[in-house]
Amino acid sequence: MYILIINAGSSSLKYQLFNMPSEKPLCSGLIEKIGAEGSFIKHKILAGNDHEEKVIEDRDFVSDHADGLNRVLALLMHSNDGVIKNRDEIIAVGHRVVHGGEYFSTATIITEDTKDKIQELSRLAPLHNPVNYRCIEISESTFPSALQVAVFDTAFHQTIPEPAYRYAIPEPLYSEEKIRVYGFHGTSHYYVSQKAMQWLNKPDAKIISIHLGNGCSITAVNQGKSVDTSMGFGPLSGLIMGTRSGDIDPSIIFHLIDQMDYSVEEVSELLNKKSGLLGVAGTNDMRDVRKLLQDGSKSAQLILDMYAYRIKKYIGSYMAVLNGADAIVFTAGVGENDSAIRESICSNLEYLNLHLDKAKNKIPSDQIREINVSGSALKILVIPTNEELEIAQQTYYLCN
Ligand code: ADP
Repeated sequence: MYILIINAGSSSLKYQLFNMPSEKPLCSGLIEKIGAEGSFIKHKILAGNDHEEKVIEDRDFVSDHADGLNRVLALLMHSNDGVIKNRDEIIAVGHRVVHGGEYFSTATIITEDTKDKIQELSRLAPLHNPVNYRCIEISESTFPSALQVAVFDTAFHQTIPEPAYRYAIPEPLYSEEKIRVYGFHGTSHYYVSQKAMQWLNKPDAKIISIHLGNGCSITAVNQGKSVDTSMGFGPLSGLIMGTRSGDIDPSIIFHLIDQMDYSVEEVSELLNKKSGLLGVAGTNDMRDVRKLLQDGSKSAQLILDMYAYRIKKYIGSYMAVLNGADAIVFTAGVGENDSAIRESICSNLEYLNLHLDKAKNKIPSDQIREINVSGSALKILVIPTNEELEIAQQTYYLCN
């Protein structure tokens, strides 16, 4: 049973084809710079009938998402390297949809009503939901016989209690305008917290899940439910990220507009695209920050200290929210790979009974692992996230 996963951005589209229920990924790929010069499709065949792993690059201009998806279909059915013979073999398409608002707390089979709600929620996620909506429509015409399923980035956080999700601003802004904490990266936090509970063999475990990729967020999970998270109404709040500031005093925005003549668009660009690691150290990529540090860069050292300090502050806050925890979990590109940032976050937290095993922490691995010393009451886990697989599992569940 083949299930295709689509994760669309405004100018990019990632996809992965799974054989379910074996969970075997057959192909994955990426379309970049859609509609712009230099657009390309990179298609990776992971396992096929008689295939070894193989990469096919298509550098012809990709005019839009529909063009891209049709060419992905052609690659999936390629006469030599294809893994399917016709489009009807794909029985479901799982779409990552960024914003589900208060409507969606689980994955959902897409109907006309679902699509209307996704479109309506474009008010809350103007950069993401319109493109998710468009790709659902394209997918409906490209794969007419497949079940279309939406898996929302916000859904896992719908269990956050009201005192944590409300902002202390006039009530109609919540009741009429729906301004509240939604939180994002829900699929990843759900996936790794479930893995952590299995690892600990404790279904009522309290977990602090720390997703450190280009975007970064931290979530307090109690008995499998999200009870607080660092991203809020949008993805700007909380931790320091590749290009986003994380928490700042909103007064800075008034200052930029009133005193420095920034437009609203310029403020948005500054806080979303020019801040974080990039704003302080000059690069948004953690590996490059590490290189700058080796070359003696003071700003690289500063941003690394700021990045770890912010995470530490949130760990303390979520330890209070949860009244103690069983484990903290590191995941995503930085969380899984950067042992130095893990060491710096975990230093001087003995009062939480958290003790890192520095040697274990340094051993690279792509497997789930425990990196605390054996007596540490609070466990430290590194768990590779797999949002695509989680979307495939939730889609598969709805097929049955
Ligand atoms: P996305 O949010 O786009 O899915 P990822 O989870 O892939 O992002 O994380 C991207 C980040 O992970 C980048 O900052 C990258 O530098 C960092 N990263 C990836 N590999 C390593 C590594 N070996 N050491 C340190 N950072 C890494």
